[in-house]
This record gives sequence, C-alpha cells and structure tokens, in this order.
Amino acid sequence: MKIGLEIHVQLPTKSKMFCSCPTTGAERANTHVCPVCLGLPGSKPSLNRKALELGLTIAKKLGCSIPETTWFSRKTYFYPDLCKHFQITQYDTPIGLAGVFYLGKKPIRITRVHLEEDPGKTKRIGDGSSLVDYNRSGIPLVEIVTEPDISSPSEAREFLAALLTEIRHTIDLHDDGERSVRCDCNISVGKERVEVKNVTGMKNAERALTYEMIRQTKILKAGGKIERETRAFDETRGITYTARKKEFEADYGYIDEPDLGIFHIGELASTVRIKESPANMAARIADQYGIDQKAAKQLVSTSVDLASFFEDVAKEYGTENAVKWVGGPVTANWKAMTESGRSPGPVLDIIGKFAKGEITDTEAGIEIKSAMTGVDAAAAAQESGDLDNLINGFLDENPGIVDDYRKNEKAANRVIGFVLKQTGGKYTSAEVVDAAKRLISERL
Ligand SMILES: [Zn+2]
Repeated sequence: MKIGLEIHVQLPTKSKMFCSCPTTGAERANTHVCPVCLGLPGSKPSLNRKALELGLTIAKKLGCSIPETTWFSRKTYFYPDLCKHFQITQYDTPIGLAGVFYLGKKPIRITRVHLEEDPGKTKRIGDGSSLVDYNRSGIPLVEIVTEPDISSPSEAREFLAALLTEIRHTIDLHDDGERSVRCDCNISVGKERVEVKNVTGMKNAERALTYEMIRQTKILKAGGKIERETRAFDETRGITYTARKKEFEADYGYIDEPDLGIFHIGELASTVRIKESPANMAARIADQYGIDQKAAKQLVSTSVDLASFFEDVAKEYGTENAVKWVGGPVTANWKAMTESGRSPGPVLDIIGKFAKGEITDTEAGIEIKSAMTGVDAAAAAQESGDLDNLINGFLDENPGIVDDYRKNEKAANRVIGFVLKQTGGKYTSAEVVDAAKRLISERL
C-alpha cells in the first residue's frame, strides 16, 4: 500500500495573501473582504511578503531546494467559494522542491512546497441552497506534497502530527488544535490511485485512509477493479464516497498569473536561517552516515555542536574515524572542553594526523584529551595510563564481566562503578565509560 499526502496549512500572517484584509477576528460573515479577495473585475493582487518568507522558511526546513525565481499561476476553479473562478496557486515553479522529512528514522520524501490562496467557506442550509462566507478567501496557505512513501493510515497520522509539530516550532504557528490541517490523501492498494479530497484534521485523515484501505482491498479480493477517482470523506458516517472522476492536470487549465509577475527569491531564501530540530538531526545523521540510531541520539543529546563536529569529521576523514574518535574520547571530554571555553578545531587536525597514519591510536587519544581539556600531554598520558591500568586490573580479577558484556552492554557498569568509586572524581564518568568500553572490547 502506498500513501501520499497533500497537506495544507494556513500561514499565520496578519493580512491576507494578496490584499490587506485581516485574517482573523471577523465577527460576521463577509466582513473581511475587498475587491481583491472577492476577485472583482479590475482589482489587482499584490503579494504579502510575510507569506512568502514563511513559505520559504518551511521549504528550507524540509530540506527543499529553492529556485532562483518563482511565479504564480491561475488554476481553474468552478466552485462558488472562490468567485473569480480561478485560484491563485503555483504550478511550474513551486518555492521548494525535493525535500525530506524524517519520521523517526524513515525518510518521507517531499515532492514540492508551494503557496496558494485559501477559498472561502460554503455552508449548506436546509432547503438545498448554500451560503458562502468569503472571510477565509485569500488567506495564505502553504501546500506540502509528499511522495507516496507512507505505508499505513496510522503512519500517515503519525507523520502529520510530527510534521505539524515541526512547522509550529519553525514559524511560531499557534496551536489551534488538530483541525488546522487539511489534506488530500492519495492511496493505492493496487495499481490505481484514489484521492480523498479535503480531509480536515489528522484523526480524520487516518479514518478516511483506513476506510479506503478496507474498501479497495475488498474490491481487489473480489476480483474487481479500482477506479481512478476523487472521493470525499463524510466525517459523521466515517465513509468516503465518489465526488468526481479524477481530473488530469490539463483539466485545470493552468495559466501564468499576469498580475503578479516574477519574484526573484534566491536572495531572500539565503537570508532565511533555519535551525534543524534535534530529533530530525539525530535521524538524519543515523541515516546519512549509516550509524546506530541510539549512537546518533547520544551525540545530539550531548550537544548539537558535538553532532555537527561528528559530521565535520565524517566528511573529512570518514565515518569510521568519526565513530571511533567523536563517539569516544571527544564525547568524553566535550563538557570539559566547553566549560574551559575551548573549541574542537585542533581535534580535527589530530584526527587527521591519525587518519594519515602519522600518529598511533594511543598518541591520538592523549593529544585529543590534552587539546580539549588543556591538561598537558605528559599528564594526560599518565592519567590515561593510570585509568587503563586500573580498569585492566579489575577486568583481570573479574573475567566474567567480558562474557556478560557480550550479552548485555550493561555489564560494563560494574567496572565503571568500581573505577568511579576508587578515583573519586578524578575522571569524568564519560571518560571512564569510554575507557571501560574500549578495554572490554579489546578482550572480546
Ligand atoms: Zn481582501
């Protein structure tokens, strides 16, 4: 089963996307409207810079590449909630392309990120007629389109929750409950893809997808054929139903929006600074360098700077050296280094010397400790020699620890506890852990 999502999130701007009408606080229907967001003849849109910035921030956060220039398109739209009968959206130049979002360690590829305007709202009333409210018409939306990388309805819900948390964190989006997200859910159990349009909230996305999964599976089992179509979701009954046969891109009749022109966004995008979240960084490092998820989390939770240093070493001297040195002595001495106001620059050179075979394992360990803590090399050598002797002595007396360690790494705690007690604060616990694991491993 393959699931892909098209996710719409309203961007928190004060005014609408192409006019100065406010986006919040309307007490009555059709009060926050003007000729532009009503699409009256002769009105001319102008782009809200803040909406563009927020969209670019999200695109960068999702690791998308950003084009130098972008423009908008008109998409044919035959519903009364946008009375100009087209929607201003982006077609051939989305503001972001080819990103990725990590759900745990699983990469979900992002096809594109683009901006568009929200339509108004229609409400059916008893006698079969409808009321339309244009207060929402023209509020900026960002649309995030994924590749069909999601493999179950529950995973879709998890993904939406994680993605929204990330977006809220990135652009200070107010948490107005799960209804703030709307998505089109694409699901194929067999060959043909069915789209469930306009589902509100993550819970409903999971419900709609689950219903579709069961419906399509039943049809296929009975030897039937799945129609390529667009369906709608009935929240009350929890079912999907045929809305219309699937349109193809050509049916939308995209044309370039002539009133807005071309935007050179390269420079603006380069000024948008994004900080990667710790969870994403850990998942990305595990995936990108092929290291254990736990080890990646350990690096990031010790310090984001330590994790970046791991990446520097891996890029320069290979993952094996990064795991050996950054995962070992550099982690052990990181706290002491930052407390003394030092930087890891010299350590990179020392690892380089080791990688080129200019110094030995032991020499590199001593130089690293010395460079990070300021202890002179002779004293560092002496100290690390003392520590190694103490641990080796204890292991000689208790060879069972090595056997137990094979089954469970926690067995190292016995020697670590002993050494910490014996030395009373002379070594940091990270240093002792590092040395104990290293020396036990040598005996495996
Ligand atoms: Zn307006």
